[in-house]
Amino acid sequence: MIIVMKLDASDSQLMEVCQQLENMGYQHHLIRGVERLVIGAVGEAKLNGKEILETMPAVEKVLPVRHPFKLVSREFKPEDSVVWVGGNKEMGGIPVGGEEIVVMAGPCAVENREQIQSAAQLIKASGGRILRGGAFKPRTSPYTFQGLAEKGLQLLAEAGQKAGLPVVSEVINPEDVDVVAQYTDLLQIGARNMQNFALLRRVGRISKPVLLKRGLASTIEEWLMAAEYIVAEGNSQVILCERGIRTFETYTRNTLDLSAVPVVKHLSHLPVIVDPSHATGKWRWVQPMALAAIASGADGLLVEVHPDPAKALSDGPQSLNPAKFDRLIETLIPVVKAVGRELNLSQQQPA
Ligand code: PEP
Ligand code: MN
Repeated sequence: MIIVMKLDASDSQLMEVCQQLENMGYQHHLIRGVERLVIGAVGEAKLNGKEILETMPAVEKVLPVRHPFKLVSREFKPEDSVVWVGGNKEMGGIPVGGEEIVVMAGPCAVENREQIQSAAQLIKASGGRILRGGAFKPRTSPYTFQGLAEKGLQLLAEAGQKAGLPVVSEVINPEDVDVVAQYTDLLQIGARNMQNFALLRRVGRISKPVLLKRGLASTIEEWLMAAEYIVAEGNSQVILCERGIRTFETYTRNTLDLSAVPVVKHLSHLPVIVDPSHATGKWRWVQPMALAAIASGADGLLVEVHPDPAKALSDGPQSLNPAKFDRLIETLIPVVKAVGRELNLSQQQPA
């Protein structure tokens, strides 16, 4: 439930309400909106307590949350959330979910120093603002390239620093969360792990933002419930990523569910980005679906780009080459303008 506080509620009255909620068995989360202060109460409380809370002097009203997801819902927080990647504004971080559209790009996997450094430079030059690169790869076959693990993270961090780009990489094991958090600015939970609840809880206890991809066969509600696991542990910095779902269609690798973008933006305050690369599986369909994603209201893109896709150790067929990535950004600009937004092209200074 949501406890809306009166505008003149004092700090001690706020503490009293929080204490009352604890006594009832609820966990509480303070949400400071532009206009009002609300307390989100979640958990398996023994008693409902609506009437008791409504008699407290600083409480304006108590509202139930209709959805099973609570902290991530718009009912809890009507304003859009902005997630900062690579530090706050003063630190030169990148905001995701605000006015500006952000492009995250890079190879499927970090392969060697030269490959990731050249990717970082070309992505920066074309207008990408966050560098991606897998080090722990969740491959369908155990016999294909599994990633360079910690060495890959080191190379990714080094390339990101040189180019002045924050970096994102996937974590697939709860035991690896600390090492991935050490080298990256944004931790990715892949589609295959969207309901790995131990992993969700673990990234919910760190202080870095999390990119949560939609599961291959997950409903929007299951996806938002997965985000709820992270936020319920205390980490509210979650970015959602639609990356296509399994349908009967086999011509494309997955079916990009673009209707999920406005639906999720309606249901949740969290930023939503789209990955047209894993959604389609072929470079040819990446650019049109990227434009469509921005038109549908997405806050950004996650695109696979490789300096030489023919030589890629994973996902070469869906990777854009440097010229195609440059073209994608060029064609994106008028679409971004058409939806009344700006493309984040701000120049960060390389470290
Ligand atoms: C990835 O982004 O590297 C990836 C494996 O994507 P997904 O989890 O969406 O398949
Ligand atoms: Mn990939």
